[in-house]
Amino acid sequence: MKKAVIGVTPLWDRDRDSYWMLPGYLEGLELAGALPITLPLTEDAGDISRLVSLCDGFLFTGGQDVSPELYGEKPCVTCGEICAKRDTFEQRLFTQALEQDKPMLGICRGIQFFNACLGGTLYQDLPTEYPSEVAHVMCPPYDRVVHSAAILPETPLAALLGRTELGVNSYHHQAIKALAPGLAEMARSEDGLVEAVYLPDKTFVWAVQWHPEFSFHTDENSRKIFSAFVAAASDPRG
Ligand code: MN
Repeated sequence: MKKAVIGVTPLWDRDRDSYWMLPGYLEGLELAGALPITLPLTEDAGDISRLVSLCDGFLFTGGQDVSPELYGEKPCVTCGEICAKRDTFEQRLFTQALEQDKPMLGICRGIQFFNACLGGTLYQDLPTEYPSEVAHVMCPPYDRVVHSAAILPETPLAALLGRTELGVNSYHHQAIKALAPGLAEMARSEDGLVEAVYLPDKTFVWAVQWHPEFSFHTDENSRKIFSAFVAAASDPRG
């Protein structure tokens, strides 16, 4: 069987005016049997449509805060850096890929982005809007467990991992506030934040708030998430 080609949304460094990529996103996909390719931040609808045809699935990576304009709010002073080019590209990519039921996995910013695109809202700044004892911004090394997440029974994540509790790493400034209509929660942090979601009416649209790309070397559960995504993207459908 041909390897599934997974388009990976690139990271953007404003100070260096550069694209960049964390190896874990690509290596986690490669280990799961996929061929990952890093995408350009194009705003051309025709090019995005071509990318959707070329790729079997898409990984939405971490990165800058999601622009509050996506969910109808003005940025607070505590909102972090925004990358308008990424927001525009990812919005168009997500919409087109969703129409064609392409498998998608969102990580960190990815879960926030899916939620904002589908009509939900975000905490623009967790420390001020959701004070908690739980450390959602950890220090390196990033493959450590820093908080737990309860996995909701009867969800695909519970079926995949065969457990109801999961220790996760955590490095995020924002998080889901109001869950988007259509999205279903799959996991919740010990302090009550949505940590994993999926779209029940799609083949595979999942997203997690934690970082399997930092932990797949040591954590089997992280590898299982990459594998489930790649398996969905590899399935010959229709
Ligand atoms: Mn967290």
